[in-house]
Amino acid sequence: MPLQPPFDRVVFDCDSTLSCVEGVEELATSDELRAGIEELTSQAMTGRIPLDEVYGKRLELMSPRQIDVQRVGQRYIETAVKGARDVVSALHALDKEVRIVSGGLRLPVVAFGLWLGIRDELVDAVQVFFDHHGKYRDYDRESPLARNGGKVEVLSRLEAKRTVFIGDGITDAETKEVVDGFVCFGGVALREEVAARADAVVDAADLRALLPVVLSAEELEHLSRHPKHARVLRGLPRT
Ligand SMILES: [Mg+2]
Repeated sequence: MPLQPPFDRVVFDCDSTLSCVEGVEELATSDELRAGIEELTSQAMTGRIPLDEVYGKRLELMSPRQIDVQRVGQRYIETAVKGARDVVSALHALDKEVRIVSGGLRLPVVAFGLWLGIRDELVDAVQVFFDHHGKYRDYDRESPLARNGGKVEVLSRLEAKRTVFIGDGITDAETKEVVDGFVCFGGVALREEVAARADAVVDAADLRALLPVVLSAEELEHLSRHPKHARVLRGLPRT
């Protein structure tokens, strides 16, 4: 079904949707380890193996220190998808609730969210635990976001609002059953399995291409009356 704006809530995946990297892969300390992690992630994102099978495996393989996990937040910011901050700002100007629901690690996703202008209580991600030396201990095994269907669970707990979800992975496409629209963002990684299930596909590398898709004609008109957002609609950064 084609997407039917307007929406009151816009929910983003984080990795490969708002940022060009997969946070967990950034924790790999060697090329060999990185290749192994990338393969596991790719299998999980296309639905070939269940997410909960790879979640703990990836973290145990890397056993990241707290400081390494914190650094991922900086990596997210450095590799933010072009236009991401402008898009969040434009959505806020239209009084939309903007959230991040991510299978990534909460510490760096929250840091990235704040940089984008999204408060920490509007970020859902997976908590990781460290010992008092800052060494990896475990992750929150109760978190629904570390398994398939987890995003559906998190979204269905939210107050009912007209919601659109934007993401690149199979766990994002799963949300289709509980949201009013699902957009496949393929600007970083376009996955056929995900695009096939989407109500709309945006495959531009610039996230600003999303605005004409998720906003109604009235909302676009409203934005175009504000000089700083009008620039964003034309694909230009705000000044
Ligand atoms: Mg993703």
